Amino acid sequence: MTTSAIRLAEVRTRLDRAAALAGRPAGSASLIAVSKTHDAGAIQPLIDAGQRIFGENRVQEVQAKWPALRDGRPDIELHLIGQLQSNKAADAVAMFDAIHSVDRASLVTALARNMDASGRRPACFIQVNIGDEPQKGGCPVAELPELLTLATAVLPVAGLMAVPPAGVEAAPYFALLAKLARDHGLHGLSMGMSDDFETAAMLGATHVRVGSALFGERT
Ligand SMILES: *Cc1c(COP(=O)(O)O)cnc(C)c1O
Repeated sequence: MTTSAIRLAEVRTRLDRAAALAGRPAGSASLIAVSKTHDAGAIQPLIDAGQRIFGENRVQEVQAKWPALRDGRPDIELHLIGQLQSNKAADAVAMFDAIHSVDRASLVTALARNMDASGRRPACFIQVNIGDEPQKGGCPVAELPELLTLATAVLPVAGLMAVPPAGVEAAPYFALLAKLARDHGLHGLSMGMSDDFETAAMLGATHVRVGSALFGERT
């Protein structure tokens, strides 16, 4: 086995164990392998080892990298986990199977228009600025009800996504995101990265986004 295939097996074991500890059924937390900045040579071993869901953060990088990797593999899912400009909404709708960074009204409108035009309807997660950090993407917690009202009317909203503040315990933020999802009757919870995906899985994550624990540090 390659290093990354071994890492994949370890991460999957840890993810399943954390979900089981919290009494969640096996497979209730999906692993998104975050392959941003990594080339096809790094990604192919994970595909060969059975990984099917990948996360990327830039439209142009996906256009360059994925057509060949995806060729003949209709079961591969690509999830957009990075900020999206409204003028790239058409590309995002065409390329991605899920979009985790819907965080403002103008983007909701642009995505809805392009979904109607193309007939493709990638699952959408509303990104919440869960720590109310000024420099970070995501809808402010206070504005979430309003954005959700708008988004659920026109987009296939699967749930909520967040990146908690760095350097502090993430669990309270994961718990808050889970509560917000519950309050709004949403099932999907995209939360948890390499350093904290087990905590996220215990607190209800349906999707964890793991990069460096699978691929090694990004350069
Ligand atoms: C890069 C990134 C990840 C993966 O981070 P790791 O710490 O490498 O696991 C997850 N989510 C988002 C939004 C990212 O940008």
